[in-house]
Amino acid sequence: MTLPLNSSIKTVAVIGAGTMGIGIAQVAAGAGLQVLLFDMNSEVLNLSLASMSERLRKRVQQGKADAQITEQLISRVAIAYSLSELSSAQLVIEAVAEKLEIKQAIFGELEHICGENTLFASNTSSLSITAIGRHLKHPERLAGLHFFNPAPVMKLVEIIRGLETSESVIKTLKALALSFNKVPVICRSTPGFIVNRVARPFYAETLRALEEQIATPETLDSAIRDAGGFAMGPLQLTDLIGHDVNYSVTNSIFQAFGYDPRFQTSLIQLELVQAGHLGRKSKRGFYHYDENKSQRSPSFAPKITLSKPYDIKARGDWQLLPEFAQLLLKNGIPLEEPTQDDRNLPTLIVNQVIVMLTNGKLSSDVAQQMNRPVVQFDLSADYGRATAITLSCAKQNNHQQNQHVIAFFQSLGKEVIVLPDYPALLTMRTVAMLCNEALDAVNKGVASVQDVDNAMCFGVNYPKGPLAWGIQLGWQHILSTLEQLSHFYGDHRYRPNPLLRKLAAGYQTLSFKELS
Ligand code: NAD
Repeated sequence: MTLPLNSSIKTVAVIGAGTMGIGIAQVAAGAGLQVLLFDMNSEVLNLSLASMSERLRKRVQQGKADAQITEQLISRVAIAYSLSELSSAQLVIEAVAEKLEIKQAIFGELEHICGENTLFASNTSSLSITAIGRHLKHPERLAGLHFFNPAPVMKLVEIIRGLETSESVIKTLKALALSFNKVPVICRSTPGFIVNRVARPFYAETLRALEEQIATPETLDSAIRDAGGFAMGPLQLTDLIGHDVNYSVTNSIFQAFGYDPRFQTSLIQLELVQAGHLGRKSKRGFYHYDENKSQRSPSFAPKITLSKPYDIKARGDWQLLPEFAQLLLKNGIPLEEPTQDDRNLPTLIVNQVIVMLTNGKLSSDVAQQMNRPVVQFDLSADYGRATAITLSCAKQNNHQQNQHVIAFFQSLGKEVIVLPDYPALLTMRTVAMLCNEALDAVNKGVASVQDVDNAMCFGVNYPKGPLAWGIQLGWQHILSTLEQLSHFYGDHRYRPNPLLRKLAAGYQTLSFKELS
């Protein structure tokens, strides 16, 4: 049966007045909707509403918001003291505890309270929408509406389609999210939806590097943040999220994907959880948040001054690394015109040393093959804006050759992080794995190309969407990086996605224009 579902929403009910519920209520009221807010704990309900009002009024006092508009927003949020008071809403958004039975029971009750054309949405971050709707008479009216924390600030909303969800519900929720000034993305109800699934390697690769004792937490975070261009380092970010939360999300995805090694949990993180070192909230995680403890700095190479000028050649197709090319030009280094054979990633020659973007091989292996000194550099979202660059030097190089390359990058204004010879360094392996996961989501119809990239840019603030990044670097480079890592480690974690193989072979292309 197809219901005449409500597309004109004037009143929204929000169930659960905790962290997410109150934020969602504020967003809806801010967009001019009437909001009915319910929580089984009336104390939480009153306190949440009072603190929302206080927060908003403070913004008025600080001159950041208009007094009249703020008072109107606050007056649009009304308290409901029972579920039965929610019958007038055209949409009910549930944001209660993350327990399947609780959510199923709430929607089961709502079916008796609300009219047949009321839409139901769950803010679940990990449960299956299909499972939440399983016992409903009309599961087609239920979808996921996944806001990110803090809901009034974060732009992304994942709209999740369960097996039975009707297309008109998805369309209505998308229009609603747009009216909230959010970026809606649509995805199928699969473990981790888009963001929590595609983001796993962001944490996993740095956790692995830490386990392999490649560098200190400070230096690894700096390699991803200051050199790679991400807003935060993964260890810093997991300290903020809480290791209990981050570990349990990874673990639930690991289980849901049949213990696929792509999602393997980290023992080093498990140990933090077992010790109760949950991050900022317990004042200790990878870092200390005790005021008396001083933080250690990342390990940067000491400053080197060379008396002789450098002999530099910049060869190859610089379209593939446009920000690097701009950095060189800005520093007066001419780029040689690419020749017909120059389809390879661009290369610098600094005083006879080959300096190239990591290709997934050890620098020592590349040096062996080329019979030349080699230094590989790591990927960055923007080489111009990055304050640091990460390098790895081949074992065969002599000290002076390495010093020349370090001094060259320092002369471009960069701090230099020298990691041991580590295949695909840190940002490159992370981005290659993010591309692999993003392509897996596209390949399995979880979400469109545009929505996957939007999810990662607006949900977790990545500096580039993984798919746009893959297109820029060339799929062949992503594929060979993963193949090298697969070969190096001999496990299945780095196995390339089938869609990646087709893209790299040129049998398929990705389109950002698909409509979701
Ligand atoms: P929370 O613990 O802060 O708030 C949950 C509220 O629900 C509590 O006030 C509780 O009293 C109320 N509640 C519990 N059972 C209820 C019931 N049967 N009827 C009415 N009220 C009930 O939780 P939260 O962090 O706001 O998370 C809520 C939902 O949003 C969860 O599904 C969670 O997975 C999801 N989510 C959380 C975040 C986050 O960062 N916190 C982000 C996105 C999504």
